[in-house]
Amino acid sequence: MRCPFCNSEDTQVKDSRQAEDGSAVRRRRLCGSCGGRFTTFERVQLRELTVVKKSGRRTPFDRDKLARSVMIAMQKRNVSPEKVEQMISGVVRQLESSGNSDITSDDIGALVMEGLAGLDSVAYVRYASVYKDFRATQDFENFIVGENLGEEDKGSTPKEPDAEDAAKNTGNNAP
Ligand SMILES: [Zn+2]
Repeated sequence: MRCPFCNSEDTQVKDSRQAEDGSAVRRRRLCGSCGGRFTTFERVQLRELTVVKKSGRRTPFDRDKLARSVMIAMQKRNVSPEKVEQMISGVVRQLESSGNSDITSDDIGALVMEGLAGLDSVAYVRYASVYKDFRATQDFENFIVGENLGEEDKGSTPKEPDAEDAAKNTGNNAP
């Protein structure tokens, strides 16, 4: 493994351990030339994926690019990096096992949205604003309203909070 700082091939593995619940191996490496330290991850690749752009251009799927877009959405959010990595790995596993080697950015976006929805609602909205950018503003608003994330204090469905309030009221009135 070439050193990312000085391009030397004289690098050593100093530490190797399981990561992401055993689905990856994390290696700490040290460059013998410049002393630089860096980390590599080894993961199973089930399938070679190609991203087909709207223009028809084909590029190899890049997990790091996907991870960077997620990291931007996760900025300053209090979610452990390990959980974010797990979510990204989950997205990649789903893409790899979908049976299709050709994927679109929409396929990736939809899965990332699903993953973020379960992780952090602010990051979800941030990502959505980028992901849906190509659409009209009204569409994005519909999207937010449709997903019920526009107002965080409202419940996932309108009926549940009503039922809870009713229960609370009954409790308060009882004594
Ligand atoms: Zn180096």
